[in-house]
Amino acid sequence: MRRRARIPGFDADVAVVGAGIVGLTLAGALAHSTPWTVTVLERAPVAPAADDNEPDPRTLALTVASVRLLSAFGAWQRLPPAQRGPVRRMAVWDARGSGRIEFDAAEVGQPELATIVENRRLLAAVDAAVGGYAHVRRERAAELTGFEVDTTAVTLALAGGRRLRVRLVVGADGAGSRVRELAGIDFIHTPYRQAAVVCVLGTELAHDETARQVFLADGPLALLPLAQAHTCALVWSTTPEHAQRLCALGEADFCAELGAACGHALGRIEHCGRREAWPLSRGRATRYVGERVALVGDAAHVIHPLAGQGANLGLMDAAALAECLGHAHEDDRDPGGLATLRRFERWRKGENLFMQMAMDGLRSLFAADADPLVRLRNTGLGLVDGMRPVKAAIMRRASGVAGDLPALARAH
Ligand SMILES: Cc1cc2nc3c(=O)[nH]c(=O)nc-3n(C[C@H](O)[C@H](O)[C@H](O)COP(=O)(O)OP(=O)(O)OC[C@H]3O[C@@H](n4cnc5c(N)ncnc54)[C@H](O)[C@@H]3O)c2cc1C
Repeated sequence: MRRRARIPGFDADVAVVGAGIVGLTLAGALAHSTPWTVTVLERAPVAPAADDNEPDPRTLALTVASVRLLSAFGAWQRLPPAQRGPVRRMAVWDARGSGRIEFDAAEVGQPELATIVENRRLLAAVDAAVGGYAHVRRERAAELTGFEVDTTAVTLALAGGRRLRVRLVVGADGAGSRVRELAGIDFIHTPYRQAAVVCVLGTELAHDETARQVFLADGPLALLPLAQAHTCALVWSTTPEHAQRLCALGEADFCAELGAACGHALGRIEHCGRREAWPLSRGRATRYVGERVALVGDAAHVIHPLAGQGANLGLMDAAALAECLGHAHEDDRDPGGLATLRRFERWRKGENLFMQMAMDGLRSLFAADADPLVRLRNTGLGLVDGMRPVKAAIMRRASGVAGDLPALARAH
Protein backbone atom coordinates (compact mmCIF):
# COMPACT_ATOMS: atom_id res chain seq x y z
CA MET A 1 0.00 0.00 0.00
CA ARG A 2 1.38 3.39 -1.01
CA ARG A 3 1.79 5.51 2.15
CA ARG A 4 0.56 9.11 1.88
CA ALA A 5 2.51 12.08 3.09
CA ARG A 6 0.48 14.60 5.06
CA ILE A 7 -0.87 17.27 2.72
CA PRO A 8 0.47 20.72 3.73
CA GLY A 9 -2.20 22.74 5.52
CA PHE A 10 -4.04 19.64 6.78
CA ASP A 11 -3.56 17.95 10.16
CA ALA A 12 -4.95 14.67 8.82
CA ASP A 13 -7.19 13.40 6.03
CA VAL A 14 -9.85 11.99 8.36
CA ALA A 15 -10.79 12.94 11.93
CA VAL A 16 -12.79 10.35 13.85
CA VAL A 17 -14.60 11.88 16.81
CA GLY A 18 -15.06 9.28 19.59
CA ALA A 19 -12.78 6.43 20.66
CA GLY A 20 -15.62 4.04 21.55
CA ILE A 21 -15.68 0.61 19.95
CA VAL A 22 -16.96 1.96 16.62
CA GLY A 23 -14.59 4.94 16.30
CA LEU A 24 -11.52 2.88 17.16
CA THR A 25 -12.56 0.11 14.78
CA LEU A 26 -13.02 2.63 12.00
CA ALA A 27 -9.52 3.94 12.67
CA GLY A 28 -8.16 0.36 12.60
CA ALA A 29 -10.01 -0.54 9.40
CA LEU A 30 -8.87 2.66 7.68
CA ALA A 31 -5.27 2.20 8.81
CA HIS A 32 -5.21 -1.43 7.69
CA SER A 33 -6.76 -0.96 4.27
CA THR A 34 -6.12 2.63 3.15
CA PRO A 35 -3.23 5.10 3.25
CA TRP A 36 -5.40 7.98 4.54
CA THR A 37 -3.97 9.67 7.62
CA VAL A 38 -6.34 9.53 10.61
CA THR A 39 -6.71 11.39 13.91
CA VAL A 40 -8.99 9.96 16.60
CA LEU A 41 -10.32 12.54 19.07
CA GLU A 42 -11.70 11.33 22.40
CA ARG A 43 -12.94 13.59 25.18
CA ALA A 44 -12.29 11.04 27.99
CA PRO A 45 -8.83 11.65 29.41
CA VAL A 46 -7.78 8.04 30.04
CA ALA A 47 -7.75 4.95 27.82
CA PRO A 48 -9.52 1.78 29.10
CA ALA A 49 -7.21 -0.51 31.09
CA ALA A 50 -6.90 -4.17 30.04
CA ASP A 51 -5.40 -5.35 33.32
CA ASP A 52 -8.06 -4.17 35.78
CA ASN A 53 -9.13 -7.27 37.75
CA GLU A 54 -12.71 -6.22 38.47
CA PRO A 55 -15.00 -7.48 35.67
CA ASP A 56 -16.65 -4.83 33.53
CA PRO A 57 -20.43 -5.13 34.03
CA ARG A 58 -20.89 -4.18 30.37
CA THR A 59 -20.35 -6.91 27.83
CA LEU A 60 -20.87 -7.22 24.09
CA ALA A 61 -22.04 -10.17 22.03
CA LEU A 62 -19.92 -9.90 18.89
CA THR A 63 -21.08 -11.53 15.67
CA VAL A 64 -18.87 -13.73 13.52
CA ALA A 65 -18.64 -10.87 11.00
CA SER A 66 -17.47 -8.42 13.70
CA VAL A 67 -14.80 -10.87 14.87
CA ARG A 68 -13.51 -11.18 11.29
CA LEU A 69 -13.30 -7.40 11.03
CA LEU A 70 -11.49 -7.04 14.37
CA SER A 71 -9.08 -9.81 13.32
CA ALA A 72 -8.34 -8.12 9.99
CA PHE A 73 -6.50 -5.22 11.63
CA GLY A 74 -4.97 -7.23 14.47
CA ALA A 75 -7.26 -6.34 17.41
CA TRP A 76 -8.92 -9.71 18.07
CA GLN A 77 -5.55 -11.45 18.40
CA ARG A 78 -4.77 -9.15 21.35
CA LEU A 79 -7.70 -10.48 23.37
CA PRO A 80 -6.57 -13.67 25.18
CA PRO A 81 -8.89 -16.72 24.76
CA ALA A 82 -9.64 -16.54 28.51
CA GLN A 83 -11.44 -13.27 27.75
CA ARG A 84 -13.62 -14.59 24.92
CA GLY A 85 -16.81 -16.53 25.62
CA PRO A 86 -17.93 -18.49 22.55
CA VAL A 87 -21.70 -18.96 22.12
CA ARG A 88 -22.23 -22.32 20.44
CA ARG A 89 -25.92 -22.67 21.26
CA MET A 90 -28.81 -20.41 22.15
CA ALA A 91 -32.12 -21.06 23.93
CA VAL A 92 -34.98 -18.56 23.89
CA TRP A 93 -38.26 -19.06 25.74
CA ASP A 94 -41.36 -17.23 26.88
CA ALA A 95 -41.95 -17.11 30.63
CA ARG A 96 -45.69 -16.84 30.01
CA GLY A 97 -46.14 -20.03 28.02
CA SER A 98 -44.41 -23.18 26.87
CA GLY A 99 -42.90 -21.81 23.62
CA ARG A 100 -39.17 -22.39 23.25
CA ILE A 101 -36.68 -22.25 20.42
CA GLU A 102 -33.10 -23.54 20.33
CA PHE A 103 -30.28 -22.76 17.95
CA ASP A 104 -27.02 -24.61 17.40
CA ALA A 105 -24.10 -23.14 15.43
CA ALA A 106 -23.21 -26.63 14.17
CA GLU A 107 -26.47 -26.66 12.14
CA VAL A 108 -25.11 -23.87 9.95
CA GLY A 109 -21.57 -25.25 9.90
CA GLN A 110 -20.13 -22.50 12.12
CA PRO A 111 -18.03 -23.03 15.24
CA GLU A 112 -20.02 -20.36 17.10
CA LEU A 113 -22.95 -17.96 16.76
CA ALA A 114 -21.29 -15.10 18.64
CA THR A 115 -18.58 -14.36 21.21
CA ILE A 116 -19.20 -12.56 24.51
CA VAL A 117 -16.50 -10.14 25.65
CA GLU A 118 -16.16 -7.51 28.35
CA ASN A 119 -16.49 -4.05 26.87
CA ARG A 120 -13.46 -2.55 28.55
CA ARG A 121 -11.08 -5.38 27.64
CA LEU A 122 -12.22 -5.30 24.03
CA LEU A 123 -11.71 -1.53 23.87
CA ALA A 124 -8.21 -1.88 25.32
CA ALA A 125 -7.34 -4.54 22.70
CA VAL A 126 -8.65 -2.42 19.81
CA ASP A 127 -6.93 0.70 21.15
CA ALA A 128 -3.60 -1.16 21.35
CA ALA A 129 -3.96 -2.53 17.81
CA VAL A 130 -4.76 0.92 16.40
CA GLY A 131 -1.71 2.28 18.25
CA GLY A 132 0.49 0.07 16.07
CA TYR A 133 -0.30 2.02 12.88
CA ALA A 134 1.96 4.96 12.16
CA HIS A 135 -0.60 6.91 10.15
CA VAL A 136 -3.17 7.00 13.00
CA ARG A 137 -2.86 9.48 15.84
CA ARG A 138 -4.99 9.05 18.98
CA GLU A 139 -5.68 12.06 21.15
CA ARG A 140 -7.35 11.93 24.57
CA ALA A 141 -8.88 14.80 26.55
CA ALA A 142 -9.74 16.14 23.07
CA GLU A 143 -13.38 17.21 23.02
CA LEU A 144 -14.92 18.45 19.79
CA THR A 145 -16.95 21.61 20.40
CA GLY A 146 -17.54 22.96 16.90
CA PHE A 147 -16.63 22.80 13.22
CA GLU A 148 -16.83 24.81 10.01
CA VAL A 149 -16.96 23.35 6.53
CA ASP A 150 -15.59 25.03 3.41
CA THR A 151 -15.06 23.74 -0.12
CA THR A 152 -11.79 21.94 0.59
CA ALA A 153 -11.70 21.24 4.32
CA VAL A 154 -13.46 21.02 7.64
CA THR A 155 -11.93 22.97 10.53
CA LEU A 156 -12.58 21.40 13.92
CA ALA A 157 -12.62 23.36 17.18
CA LEU A 158 -11.59 21.51 20.34
CA ALA A 159 -12.28 22.47 23.95
CA GLY A 160 -9.33 24.58 25.08
CA GLY A 161 -9.19 26.43 21.77
CA ARG A 162 -7.09 24.16 19.54
CA ARG A 163 -8.08 23.85 15.84
CA LEU A 164 -7.56 21.01 13.38
CA ARG A 165 -8.00 21.07 9.61
CA VAL A 166 -9.06 17.80 7.98
CA ARG A 167 -10.90 16.69 4.83
CA LEU A 168 -13.57 14.53 6.48
CA VAL A 169 -14.97 14.40 10.01
CA VAL A 170 -16.67 11.19 11.16
CA GLY A 171 -19.03 11.26 14.13
CA ALA A 172 -18.45 8.07 16.13
CA ASP A 173 -19.42 10.01 19.23
CA GLY A 174 -22.37 7.94 20.41
CA ALA A 175 -26.10 8.49 20.81
CA GLY A 176 -25.76 12.12 21.93
CA SER A 177 -23.49 12.93 18.94
CA ARG A 178 -22.14 16.47 18.84
CA VAL A 179 -21.01 15.94 15.24
CA ARG A 180 -24.59 15.07 14.25
CA GLU A 181 -25.91 18.15 16.01
CA LEU A 182 -23.29 20.47 14.47
CA ALA A 183 -24.05 19.05 11.01
CA GLY A 184 -27.76 19.83 11.53
CA ILE A 185 -28.82 16.20 11.08
CA ASP A 186 -32.10 15.28 12.81
CA PHE A 187 -32.25 12.34 15.19
CA ILE A 188 -35.58 10.60 15.76
CA HIS A 189 -35.27 9.40 19.30
CA THR A 190 -37.82 7.40 21.34
CA PRO A 191 -37.14 6.24 24.89
CA TYR A 192 -38.52 2.73 25.57
CA ARG A 193 -39.38 3.32 29.24
CA GLN A 194 -37.11 0.39 29.98
CA ALA A 195 -33.68 0.06 31.53
CA ALA A 196 -31.21 -2.82 31.36
CA VAL A 197 -29.49 -4.09 34.48
CA VAL A 198 -26.05 -5.47 33.60
CA CYS A 199 -23.46 -7.35 35.66
CA VAL A 200 -21.22 -10.42 35.67
CA LEU A 201 -22.44 -13.46 37.63
CA GLY A 202 -21.25 -16.76 39.05
CA THR A 203 -23.72 -19.64 38.59
CA GLU A 204 -24.10 -23.06 40.23
CA LEU A 205 -24.41 -24.91 36.90
CA ALA A 206 -22.04 -24.59 33.93
CA HIS A 207 -23.45 -22.54 31.06
CA ASP A 208 -22.30 -25.07 28.45
CA GLU A 209 -21.46 -22.24 26.01
CA THR A 210 -25.17 -21.57 25.63
CA ALA A 211 -26.76 -18.12 25.62
CA ARG A 212 -30.15 -18.10 27.34
CA GLN A 213 -32.86 -15.50 26.93
CA VAL A 214 -36.23 -15.55 28.65
CA PHE A 215 -38.97 -13.06 27.77
CA LEU A 216 -40.58 -11.82 30.99
CA ALA A 217 -43.61 -9.52 31.26
CA ASP A 218 -41.40 -6.41 31.64
CA GLY A 219 -38.73 -7.32 29.07
CA PRO A 220 -36.11 -9.91 28.08
CA LEU A 221 -33.53 -11.32 30.50
CA ALA A 222 -30.35 -12.71 28.93
CA LEU A 223 -27.64 -14.87 30.51
CA LEU A 224 -24.63 -14.78 28.20
CA PRO A 225 -21.75 -17.27 28.58
CA LEU A 226 -18.33 -15.81 29.34
CA ALA A 227 -15.09 -17.77 28.92
CA GLN A 228 -15.23 -19.43 32.37
CA ALA A 229 -17.78 -22.27 32.57
CA HIS A 230 -19.66 -20.87 35.59
CA THR A 231 -19.53 -17.17 34.68
CA CYS A 232 -22.21 -15.32 32.73
CA ALA A 233 -23.01 -11.75 31.77
CA LEU A 234 -26.50 -10.53 32.59
CA VAL A 235 -28.59 -8.14 30.49
CA TRP A 236 -31.99 -7.80 32.20
CA SER A 237 -34.36 -5.33 30.54
CA THR A 238 -37.18 -4.20 32.77
CA THR A 239 -39.03 -1.07 33.92
CA PRO A 240 -36.76 1.78 35.08
CA GLU A 241 -38.26 1.53 38.60
CA HIS A 242 -37.59 -2.20 38.81
CA ALA A 243 -34.06 -1.73 37.44
CA GLN A 244 -33.34 0.84 40.12
CA ARG A 245 -34.68 -1.47 42.82
CA LEU A 246 -32.59 -4.39 41.48
CA CYS A 247 -29.43 -2.28 41.62
CA ALA A 248 -30.18 -1.21 45.20
CA LEU A 249 -30.76 -4.75 46.53
CA GLY A 250 -28.12 -6.52 48.63
CA GLU A 251 -26.17 -9.16 46.69
CA ALA A 252 -27.94 -12.19 48.20
CA ASP A 253 -31.43 -10.75 47.58
CA PHE A 254 -30.52 -9.76 44.04
CA CYS A 255 -29.14 -13.24 43.27
CA ALA A 256 -32.30 -14.85 44.69
CA GLU A 257 -34.62 -12.60 42.64
CA LEU A 258 -32.60 -13.19 39.48
CA GLY A 259 -32.54 -16.97 40.02
CA ALA A 260 -36.33 -17.03 40.34
CA ALA A 261 -36.84 -14.72 37.33
CA CYS A 262 -34.86 -17.00 34.99
CA GLY A 263 -36.51 -20.16 36.33
CA HIS A 264 -33.19 -21.28 37.90
CA ALA A 265 -31.98 -22.09 34.38
CA LEU A 266 -28.40 -22.27 35.73
CA GLY A 267 -29.20 -23.40 39.28
CA ARG A 268 -28.37 -20.95 42.06
CA ILE A 269 -26.88 -17.56 41.22
CA GLU A 270 -23.90 -17.71 43.58
CA HIS A 271 -22.53 -14.18 43.36
CA CYS A 272 -22.61 -11.10 41.21
CA GLY A 273 -20.26 -8.21 40.43
CA ARG A 274 -21.03 -4.49 40.30
CA ARG A 275 -24.49 -3.76 38.86
CA GLU A 276 -25.34 -0.90 36.51
CA ALA A 277 -28.65 0.17 34.96
CA TRP A 278 -28.69 1.58 31.40
CA PRO A 279 -31.73 3.43 30.06
CA LEU A 280 -32.93 1.97 26.76
CA SER A 281 -34.15 3.82 23.73
CA ARG A 282 -34.18 3.68 19.97
CA GLY A 283 -33.02 6.40 17.65
CA ARG A 284 -32.09 7.00 14.05
CA ALA A 285 -30.43 9.84 12.22
CA THR A 286 -32.44 10.99 9.20
CA ARG A 287 -29.18 11.19 7.20
CA TYR A 288 -25.82 9.51 7.76
CA VAL A 289 -23.81 12.02 5.73
CA GLY A 290 -23.50 15.71 5.01
CA GLU A 291 -20.87 17.97 3.51
CA ARG A 292 -17.51 16.48 4.67
CA VAL A 293 -19.35 14.68 7.50
CA ALA A 294 -20.34 11.05 8.09
CA LEU A 295 -21.96 9.31 11.08
CA VAL A 296 -21.28 5.75 12.26
CA GLY A 297 -22.42 3.57 15.17
CA ASP A 298 -24.74 4.91 17.85
CA ALA A 299 -24.36 8.42 16.43
CA ALA A 300 -26.40 7.14 13.45
CA HIS A 301 -28.66 4.50 15.06
CA VAL A 302 -29.52 3.17 18.52
CA ILE A 303 -31.41 -0.11 18.94
CA HIS A 304 -32.75 -2.29 21.77
CA PRO A 305 -30.06 -4.67 23.07
CA LEU A 306 -32.37 -7.71 23.01
CA ALA A 307 -30.43 -9.38 20.19
CA GLY A 308 -27.07 -7.79 21.02
CA GLN A 309 -26.77 -6.07 17.63
CA GLY A 310 -26.08 -2.36 18.33
CA ALA A 311 -22.29 -2.36 18.32
CA ASN A 312 -22.20 -5.00 15.59
CA LEU A 313 -24.15 -2.74 13.24
CA GLY A 314 -21.75 0.09 14.11
CA LEU A 315 -18.75 -2.10 13.33
CA MET A 316 -20.19 -2.90 9.91
CA ASP A 317 -20.71 0.86 9.34
CA ALA A 318 -17.03 1.33 10.16
CA ALA A 319 -15.92 -1.39 7.72
CA ALA A 320 -18.22 -0.10 4.96
CA LEU A 321 -17.04 3.49 5.34
CA ALA A 322 -13.39 2.38 5.34
CA GLU A 323 -14.05 0.42 2.13
CA CYS A 324 -15.73 3.40 0.41
CA LEU A 325 -12.83 5.65 1.47
CA GLY A 326 -10.37 3.04 0.18
CA HIS A 327 -12.03 3.19 -3.25
CA ALA A 328 -11.91 6.99 -3.12
CA HIS A 329 -8.15 6.78 -2.58
CA GLU A 330 -7.63 4.33 -5.46
CA ASP A 331 -9.59 6.66 -7.77
CA ASP A 332 -7.78 9.74 -6.44
CA ARG A 333 -11.00 11.26 -5.09
CA ASP A 334 -11.51 13.58 -2.12
CA PRO A 335 -12.36 11.51 1.01
CA GLY A 336 -14.90 14.15 2.04
CA GLY A 337 -16.64 14.14 -1.35
CA LEU A 338 -20.39 13.69 -1.21
CA ALA A 339 -20.47 10.95 -3.87
CA THR A 340 -18.19 8.74 -1.72
CA LEU A 341 -20.17 9.46 1.44
CA ARG A 342 -23.53 8.85 -0.24
CA ARG A 343 -22.34 5.42 -1.36
CA PHE A 344 -21.62 4.59 2.28
CA GLU A 345 -25.04 5.88 3.34
CA ARG A 346 -26.90 3.83 0.69
CA TRP A 347 -25.00 0.74 1.78
CA ARG A 348 -25.66 0.96 5.51
CA LYS A 349 -28.90 2.85 6.11
CA GLY A 350 -31.31 0.18 4.81
CA GLU A 351 -29.45 -2.62 6.60
CA ASN A 352 -29.57 -0.77 9.94
CA LEU A 353 -33.22 0.20 9.54
CA PHE A 354 -34.14 -3.41 8.81
CA MET A 355 -32.48 -4.57 12.04
CA GLN A 356 -34.05 -1.73 14.02
CA MET A 357 -37.52 -2.67 12.80
CA ALA A 358 -36.93 -6.36 13.46
CA MET A 359 -35.88 -5.59 17.07
CA ASP A 360 -38.92 -3.36 17.57
CA GLY A 361 -41.23 -6.02 16.16
CA LEU A 362 -39.80 -8.68 18.49
CA ARG A 363 -39.95 -6.36 21.47
CA SER A 364 -43.62 -5.53 20.85
CA LEU A 365 -44.55 -9.14 20.18
CA PHE A 366 -43.07 -10.26 23.49
CA ALA A 367 -44.44 -7.27 25.40
CA ALA A 368 -48.02 -8.15 24.44
CA ASP A 369 -50.12 -9.51 27.28
CA ALA A 370 -53.41 -10.33 25.57
CA ASP A 371 -54.14 -14.08 25.72
CA PRO A 372 -54.56 -14.70 21.97
CA LEU A 373 -51.20 -13.03 21.26
CA VAL A 374 -49.44 -14.93 24.04
CA ARG A 375 -50.84 -18.19 22.59
CA LEU A 376 -49.91 -17.19 19.06
CA ARG A 377 -46.29 -16.35 19.88
CA ASN A 378 -45.84 -19.54 21.91
CA THR A 379 -47.23 -21.62 19.06
CA GLY A 380 -45.01 -19.62 16.67
CA LEU A 381 -41.87 -20.32 18.72
CA GLY A 382 -42.65 -24.05 18.73
CA LEU A 383 -43.36 -24.07 14.98
CA VAL A 384 -40.19 -22.17 14.03
CA ASP A 385 -38.18 -24.50 16.28
CA GLY A 386 -39.16 -27.37 13.97
CA MET A 387 -38.24 -25.51 10.74
CA ARG A 388 -34.56 -26.04 10.04
CA PRO A 389 -34.24 -23.73 7.00
CA VAL A 390 -35.97 -20.85 8.82
CA LYS A 391 -33.75 -21.37 11.87
CA ALA A 392 -30.67 -21.49 9.66
CA ALA A 393 -31.65 -18.16 8.06
CA ILE A 394 -32.19 -16.59 11.53
CA MET A 395 -28.80 -17.90 12.72
CA ARG A 396 -26.99 -16.56 9.66
CA ARG A 397 -28.59 -13.14 10.14
CA ALA A 398 -27.89 -13.11 13.92
CA SER A 399 -24.25 -14.07 13.45
CA GLY A 400 -23.87 -11.32 10.90
CA VAL A 401 -22.81 -13.48 7.95
CA ALA A 402 -25.90 -12.67 5.83
CA GLY A 403 -26.42 -9.49 3.81
CA ASP A 404 -24.07 -7.26 1.86
CA LEU A 405 -20.93 -7.50 4.02
CA PRO A 406 -17.91 -5.22 3.66
CA ALA A 407 -14.78 -7.07 2.44
CA LEU A 408 -13.04 -6.95 5.83
CA ALA A 409 -16.00 -8.75 7.44
CA ARG A 410 -16.21 -11.56 4.86
CA ALA A 411 -14.59 -14.98 5.35
CA HIS A 412 -10.95 -14.82 4.27
C1 LIG B 1 -27.31 -2.75 28.18
C2 LIG B 1 -26.75 -2.77 26.82
C3 LIG B 1 -26.25 -3.96 26.29
C4 LIG B 1 -25.72 -3.98 24.98
N1 LIG B 1 -25.27 -5.17 24.48
C5 LIG B 1 -24.81 -5.21 23.21
C6 LIG B 1 -24.32 -6.42 22.63
O1 LIG B 1 -24.32 -7.49 23.27
N2 LIG B 1 -23.85 -6.40 21.35
C7 LIG B 1 -23.86 -5.26 20.62
O2 LIG B 1 -23.46 -5.29 19.44
N3 LIG B 1 -24.29 -4.09 21.13
C8 LIG B 1 -24.76 -4.04 22.40
N4 LIG B 1 -25.17 -2.85 22.92
C9 LIG B 1 -25.05 -1.62 22.12
C10 LIG B 1 -23.63 -1.08 22.20
O3 LIG B 1 -23.21 -0.96 23.54
C11 LIG B 1 -23.53 0.24 21.48
O4 LIG B 1 -24.16 0.14 20.21
C12 LIG B 1 -22.06 0.63 21.26
O5 LIG B 1 -21.35 0.67 22.47
C13 LIG B 1 -21.96 2.00 20.57
O6 LIG B 1 -20.61 2.29 20.34
P1 LIG B 1 -20.15 3.68 19.72
O7 LIG B 1 -18.66 3.59 19.60
O8 LIG B 1 -20.97 4.00 18.51
O9 LIG B 1 -20.57 4.78 20.80
P2 LIG B 1 -20.04 5.01 22.29
O10 LIG B 1 -19.66 3.73 22.92
O11 LIG B 1 -21.11 5.83 22.94
O12 LIG B 1 -18.72 5.86 22.12
C14 LIG B 1 -18.73 7.23 21.81
C15 LIG B 1 -17.40 7.85 22.24
O13 LIG B 1 -17.36 9.21 21.80
C16 LIG B 1 -16.84 10.03 22.83
N5 LIG B 1 -17.35 11.39 22.61
C17 LIG B 1 -18.64 11.82 22.68
N6 LIG B 1 -18.73 13.12 22.38
C18 LIG B 1 -17.47 13.54 22.09
C19 LIG B 1 -16.91 14.80 21.69
N7 LIG B 1 -17.70 15.89 21.52
N8 LIG B 1 -15.59 14.88 21.46
C20 LIG B 1 -14.78 13.78 21.61
N9 LIG B 1 -15.26 12.56 22.00
C21 LIG B 1 -16.59 12.44 22.22
C22 LIG B 1 -17.34 9.37 24.11
O14 LIG B 1 -16.57 9.75 25.23
C23 LIG B 1 -17.22 7.89 23.76
O15 LIG B 1 -15.96 7.36 24.09
C24 LIG B 1 -25.71 -2.79 24.21
C25 LIG B 1 -26.19 -1.61 24.75
C26 LIG B 1 -26.71 -1.58 26.03
C27 LIG B 1 -27.25 -0.29 26.60
